[in-house]
This record gives sequence, structure tokens and C-alpha cells, in this order.
Amino acid sequence: MFQRHNNRPPELKSARELGLMRESGKLVARALKICRDMAKPGVKTIEIDRVVEAFYLKHQAIPLFKGYPGKVPFPSVTCMSINEQVVHGIPGERALKDGDLLKVDTACRLNGWCADRAITIPVGTVRPERLRLLKIGTEVLQMAIDELPRRKWWSEVASRMQKHAEEAGFSVVTNYVGHGIGRVMHENPQVPNYVSRDTRKHDFRLEPGLVLAIEPMVNMGTAEVVTTRDHWTVVTRDGLASVHIEHTLAITADGIVNITSDEGAFDDEPTAV
Ligand code: MG
Repeated sequence: MFQRHNNRPPELKSARELGLMRESGKLVARALKICRDMAKPGVKTIEIDRVVEAFYLKHQAIPLFKGYPGKVPFPSVTCMSINEQVVHGIPGERALKDGDLLKVDTACRLNGWCADRAITIPVGTVRPERLRLLKIGTEVLQMAIDELPRRKWWSEVASRMQKHAEEAGFSVVTNYVGHGIGRVMHENPQVPNYVSRDTRKHDFRLEPGLVLAIEPMVNMGTAEVVTTRDHWTVVTRDGLASVHIEHTLAITADGIVNITSDEGAFDDEPTAV
């Protein structure tokens, strides 16, 4: 997550580089598995973050969120955003409650290559309306994965993502977007989950070697979001719930490679933390 701007063309990655990114992506997948397993009512978000930090340390990976520059540097290795919090929530003493939607976003660099992913975890028993929001958010990202190899331009994918969310009665956040990723976490291009005259002006071609962190944020109510006084946590203006799901995805001549997939990520150490 977070934002960055420059005008350089996207850097395309080789098969060897994608292999290195995949190793980083496996660690991110495993870090998020830890979060999913720990996210139970009564657990404080800071407790989960500390375990993830120890996990990255153990695997010689550099967590990319901690110290991220802002008005105050971001203090943790994960973003933990609950319910109406959209993104960039700071892990802390708040304990998870039954019915919460917890969004966890995390990224690391391993051997010089980055991977970034976010998941939304239903905590305990979650209301059907919120589960439907999560289902649609998950489908919006899956739609991007399915459409990427079929389309020439990103806007063709983004318009379908937006349409799917809106047809379900929800809205897509426009203040924050996905990004290219590689040696650094935030590379060009910016990857919006919607289309407008402005995003069409900055549209980009989908070509082999392009690696994108695609991360739709879908709100139950309006798309409007505000940043709270901690300078980081972004919440919905109407206080309604939001979901956030992200994968790092590579376009290759043979199809899409999911850099942060769970598939094969646990083969080395099936249950280890
Ligand atoms: Mg991201």
C-alpha cells in the first residue's frame, strides 16, 4: 500500500527475477498464514505484528512497512485495519472482537526482491452482510487475475473490477491504488481499481515481465475515506465496513504468476512459524 509517484516507464522483470520475487512472496504468504491463525477474539493486533516481525527476522527478510516515511514513520511490519478502517491501520492494544473484519497488509524484501499482499480475515462469526462484502472483494481481485492475460490495457481490467463491486451495491476506493513492484515496493505504474478520465490518461499496456501489486479496497457504503489523527489509519467517512485484498502478480508469456500465492508456499516447513 502507500503511495509513490514518478514518471518512469514500468520496469519489466526476467524469469530469473520473478523466481526471486516468488521466494519473497512465499514468505509473505506464510506471514499472512500466521496472522490468519492468530486472529481470534481477544487477541491484540500488536501481538500478531510482533510474531510476524520475528518471522521475517528469522528468515533474513526485510519488512518494508516498518519505518515507511510519513508525518510519523510507520511503526509496524503489518498494517492492521479493522472494520471501517480501510488501510494503513497501526497494530496496537485493540483486541479483536467476534464479528470483526481484520485487514492485514504486509510486504518484505528477500535477497533484494519485494512482495506485497493483503488479506481480509473474518474474526469469529461475522454478519452475513459483511461476509458478502468480503466475497465480492475477493471476486474483484480474482476478476483482475482472470482478466490480466486477456486484455491489452489495464483500464479494461479496472473497469470490470469496478463494475463488479458496484453491481453488488458496493463502492471501490479511489484515493488509494495498487502499484508496480520489484526491487522496491512502490514502482510504476500506479494501478487504480477504477476508471476515470484521469486514470485512462495514465493507462498502461499489459505485457510480459510486468509485475503489479493489485489491491482493491471495496466499501460497503460510499467510496469516501479520511485519514485519522494518527496520520496513518484510513477509515470510511460513513463508518461502514471495508475489505482489502491484494496479491503481487506477474504477467508472463505463459500466463499469470501469483508471486504471493499460498500454493507451494508451505512446502519447506509445512506448519512452522
Ligand atoms: Mg501494496
